[in-house]
Amino acid sequence: MRTGLFGLLIFFALISTSCQERLESPEESSIGSAAEDDCGFVQNSYGARVSWKNKIPVSVQVDPLMNDEFFNAATRAADRWNSLAGKKLIVLERLPPTDVVSPSQDLTTGLYWRTDWAAEKSNQQAVTTLFYRGNSINEADVKVNAKDFLFYSKDPNSNQEVHMESLLVHEFGHLLGLKHSTVWPTVMWSTLASNTVRDVISEKDLKSLKCEY
Ligand SMILES: [Zn+2]
Repeated sequence: MRTGLFGLLIFFALISTSCQERLESPEESSIGSAAEDDCGFVQNSYGARVSWKNKIPVSVQVDPLMNDEFFNAATRAADRWNSLAGKKLIVLERLPPTDVVSPSQDLTTGLYWRTDWAAEKSNQQAVTTLFYRGNSINEADVKVNAKDFLFYSKDPNSNQEVHMESLLVHEFGHLLGLKHSTVWPTVMWSTLASNTVRDVISEKDLKSLKCEY
């Protein structure tokens, strides 16, 4: 039986340093897949862009631990991508308060509010993990580091808080398959400073998006 090409990609949003890590399982050489321009997207080992293909909109189950204020910020972040694309790419579904969720490879795409976080990774604001096979994403998990960071949506209470909508516009870009960009301005720039709003998706981001959606 063909095992196919499985991939796992993890993006970290950090305070101050560039961050991207890619882990892929061994590949099968018989899979034919033409190399493509990256166009801002993650590529598999054959150089093909990785995205959700025709499996849109992506349904994202939202952790009930995320409060109303931040759920609304997440909704606005998703809507920024949707309105730019002119179609629904990301749909958020808030889970009932009684649900207890945790991220794992379970074919459920989720947005998780995590109050546990590895001490050695305490500089990560959030992490998005992509699970893909060949050039097609099957699952994405977005985890927000609520252990080490404070967040805001309108007015910060201190100068050490992360703007939630800006953070999630970036993470949802990863969820769609986009990688970090080294060209400014773009919401896929790898770092987001505290008390900084960066939630307007740029022409460059849109040009990338249109390569796959
Ligand atoms: Zn990132």
